[in-house]
Amino acid sequence: MIKNLASGDKTAPKAISRDRETISVITSKNKPQWQRELANAIRSADLLCERLGLKAIGHDSKATGAESNSTQKGTNGHSLQSILRQFPVLVPESFLRRMTPRDPRDPLLLQVLPSFHELDKTVGYSFDPVGDRQSVFAPGMLQKYRGRALMITVGQCAVHCRYCFRRNYPYHQSPRSLEQWEPSLEKLRQNRQIEEIILSGGDPLVLGDQRLAKLIGRLDAIDHLKRIRIHTRLPIVLPSRVTEGLLDLFRNSRLQPIFVVHANHPNELVDDCAEAIVRTVRAGIPVLNQAVLLKGINDTTETQAELCRRLINLGAIPYYLHQLDRVEGAAHFETGVTLGKKIIDELKQQLPGYAVPKYVREIPGEPGKTELT
Ligand code: SF4
Repeated sequence: MIKNLASGDKTAPKAISRDRETISVITSKNKPQWQRELANAIRSADLLCERLGLKAIGHDSKATGAESNSTQKGTNGHSLQSILRQFPVLVPESFLRRMTPRDPRDPLLLQVLPSFHELDKTVGYSFDPVGDRQSVFAPGMLQKYRGRALMITVGQCAVHCRYCFRRNYPYHQSPRSLEQWEPSLEKLRQNRQIEEIILSGGDPLVLGDQRLAKLIGRLDAIDHLKRIRIHTRLPIVLPSRVTEGLLDLFRNSRLQPIFVVHANHPNELVDDCAEAIVRTVRAGIPVLNQAVLLKGINDTTETQAELCRRLINLGAIPYYLHQLDRVEGAAHFETGVTLGKKIIDELKQQLPGYAVPKYVREIPGEPGKTELT
């Protein structure tokens, strides 16, 4: 049935607008390697399965959740084709290399392979499960917690995670050029309580070095800011992005940088990805990891313990284990909180305290993440 998913891809417009933007920005042969890799990333379920030798078992509905053709409509009126137009497949080659060929249950594959379960309408699931839209205080700028503000710097990512809580975010409403950002930066200047700026998206490291340098320069000049936090999955899925030039941008900033990366499974933390994390840590930039507890992907103590061990062995800190944010189309990834608590209790018996992440849920309107204990 992956054939059907793929045929949906072929007939659909190439991608959503945020995907087209990525492609249009990255066409020159003179671009850095990471930009060429991003431009060449896999953008169809058919090709993804073909590359993994999975064509023959694509009909296994247990493996893929694919039980009908891609024009089938869910109770919310969407077809998988329409979902894929808005949130297409996107997988860089580096991430693909870490998947096991011919394994339909590969934990990295399951994070990025579309499923017909995305059509399910589940009570309690919504388009904006973490209250992003009610937190906007200036275009592209969110504040949920005291002392911190978050910038939706860009709509693009280097991978599309099917459980993403921002998969429906109206990125087109955020500023793009620095000039467009100016009114929001002015609001930031006026709010002297904010001491930490979080660059998020999408993924802020999709921005090229020049644009990042200009943005960091503007933020450097805001004297009440002390720290710059980067929420990024690029060191995990597109490790070639972690160049010396990129690290220099943050090393040379007045602001204390902190990278918060996003790896869910120990199999992600190998080869070029492991090297990128070590390079970042050795550049003096703290690296924290946040993972999402995902059914059938990392919902065992054994997997979580290995994820935490690999992180600390690379010099990164397991920061958060998130209970899934209930975004529409992702209910098939949710595990029970009871299981999550059991995993954390067992991790505490196996690992040093600093290697055990906080198990949290984000509840809109709360003054911080809610710890699940
Ligand atoms: S990288 Fe982050 S923002 Fe982008 S799709 Fe994945 S979870 Fe969402």
